[in-house]
Amino acid sequence: MQAECTRGCSMQTIIHSDIQRLPHIDEAEKILRSCVHCGFCNAVCPTYQLLGDELDGPRGRIYLIKDLLETNDIDGESVEHLDRCLTCRSCETTCPSGVQYGRLLDIGREVIANQHSTRRKPNPLPHLVRWIVPRSWIFEPLLRIGNMVRGILPQALRVKIPKITPLIKSNKDVAMLEGEMTDGGLVLNKIQRKVLVLSGCVQKSATPNVNRSLESLLATHQVAVEYLSNEGCCGALDLHLSAHAQAKQRMRELIDKMHDSLDDYEAIISTASGCGVTIKEYPVILADDEVYLNKAEEVCAKVVDAVEYVAQFDFALPATNVTRVAVHTPCSLQHGQKLPVALEDILKKVGVELVETGEKHLCCGSAGSYSLLQPAIANALTSRKLDNLQRDDPDVIVTANVGCQMQLAASADIPVMHWLEFLAQATTQQHNNRSA
Ligand code: SF4
Ligand code: SF4
Repeated sequence: MQAECTRGCSMQTIIHSDIQRLPHIDEAEKILRSCVHCGFCNAVCPTYQLLGDELDGPRGRIYLIKDLLETNDIDGESVEHLDRCLTCRSCETTCPSGVQYGRLLDIGREVIANQHSTRRKPNPLPHLVRWIVPRSWIFEPLLRIGNMVRGILPQALRVKIPKITPLIKSNKDVAMLEGEMTDGGLVLNKIQRKVLVLSGCVQKSATPNVNRSLESLLATHQVAVEYLSNEGCCGALDLHLSAHAQAKQRMRELIDKMHDSLDDYEAIISTASGCGVTIKEYPVILADDEVYLNKAEEVCAKVVDAVEYVAQFDFALPATNVTRVAVHTPCSLQHGQKLPVALEDILKKVGVELVETGEKHLCCGSAGSYSLLQPAIANALTSRKLDNLQRDDPDVIVTANVGCQMQLAASADIPVMHWLEFLAQATTQQHNNRSA
């Protein structure tokens, strides 16, 4: 590892000639040059905080990637330090030089996967996860079987099986029938606005009420929701498991499906911030793809997280509602999509009482498939996150990503909901209270 510069100068990097022409290497070099190795990022890095090793923090990992690009070589131990990164991007939020660490890590992992895959210990789990999760015809039955036998499993295994919530009935049809009474009778409100909502792979099977809830909420504002048939995976899972070629292929397929009907929708909404952050970055990931770059840019111009879209509407809680809420803003929303307070703002506007929580910047340990691949670190982070969320005795925890919801729900003492489920439930209470 190169000695640390104490004068704030940037990194000089001489890329190895064998990899100079690989995709994204120029981008990686620019990112490396932007780091002044001040180390501020280590203070907010969950793995550095837990493990206390410089090479398990962002600055050390940046040096490892620099070394990889300069020597076109890496040893197995260094690969493990990189694989222990959660890709939470907390370091990016704190970095005074705007270092795009997440992109650098992705590029580094792609070089490792393409040039040095033998340095990684053989492990069938990532392949299994990538094969099963996007295939709902096998993922869903497995999830159901897991839920059935959950009670007899040891605790360590039980927390790995997400609880499926029973499907609620969307009130979108009821809401759509709202209208104005005139001399000529009830004139139904016309649906003028239409959005495309993404289903996601895990969310569709594990927490289907999230999108049902969004349908209900938007219906009260005369916005119709549509879905893609045969949506497929956004590519995030493959990307984070170092299967870059497969990830890019999935991205192209989803772009094609969305691009054909772009003009029909005022927005494309992601209700899982872990998927949304990847989709928003399609133009960066596909920057070297001459055929798809333009399409990716056009699609991404319409992609928003649900917090961005729903913020324009007013919802009010019933006066009798006394729920106290702890908010966990997922890393993919606060650090990835740079929306650190959007979720809290919506809940405050609605009139929800938010409790104080600590260490908001820290990851909950879910991080996509990380909780399966690095269970010890993931569980330690989940305990720490739950201590922070539950310390002021809230009634419920709300979040904005299916992975965080499942990870926290498996060990929490109180219910953990997606914020859309929470808001739709509260709004339904309001309707009920009014009609009582
Ligand atoms: S990534 Fe940013 S915060 Fe971290 S060492 Fe480099 S310049 Fe400093
Ligand atoms: S992405 Fe998260 S875990 Fe990885 S180096 Fe940055 S702060 Fe640490």
